[in-house]
Amino acid sequence: MLRLSPKPMRPSHRLDVYLVPTDPDAAPRRSAQAYLQQLEARGILTNDGGPGPHAGRWMPEGFARLRLDLPDAPTLYANRQGGFRVRCPDRGDVVTADFARALSEWRSGGPRQFACSACGQDHPLEAADGRPAFAIGSLALVAADAGATSPTPEALAEVQQALGPVRMVLSRG
Ligand SMILES: [Zn+2]
Repeated sequence: MLRLSPKPMRPSHRLDVYLVPTDPDAAPRRSAQAYLQQLEARGILTNDGGPGPHAGRWMPEGFARLRLDLPDAPTLYANRQGGFRVRCPDRGDVVTADFARALSEWRSGGPRQFACSACGQDHPLEAADGRPAFAIGSLALVAADAGATSPTPEALAEVQQALGPVRMVLSRG
């Protein structure tokens, strides 16, 4: 494959950056696709999802692929390596076990919430304060093998215009 913009050597762990609408039920598929077409017209993206000659204007050092992820149902976007810690959004206590149990119940058809042992309330799964950050969403814009941990501030503003408010999830694997 011919690369128009040669990429520098990267660490062996690949970084993927997921931009996920904050509302887990939001799937602004049409405006997301229109935005990708716009990026293609601007030379940021090629028509097969690879980096265009101006990919670095969207993300420092570019990316290997930029694509939409459209799961059939809301899904968890999280770091693939290691675990994460979850805190009660009200009190800040660590409630990872409560969350993990509820997450697996949700994945087998249970409600999208967890009973919090810190404050006694039920929180939506997506309200949990996770470190590293994760998100539950129905759509994600994915910069695979990204050259940076974030798009440029201008690109991020464009993304939020197309998708609404987003959470950014970094996944290394
Ligand atoms: Zn709580």
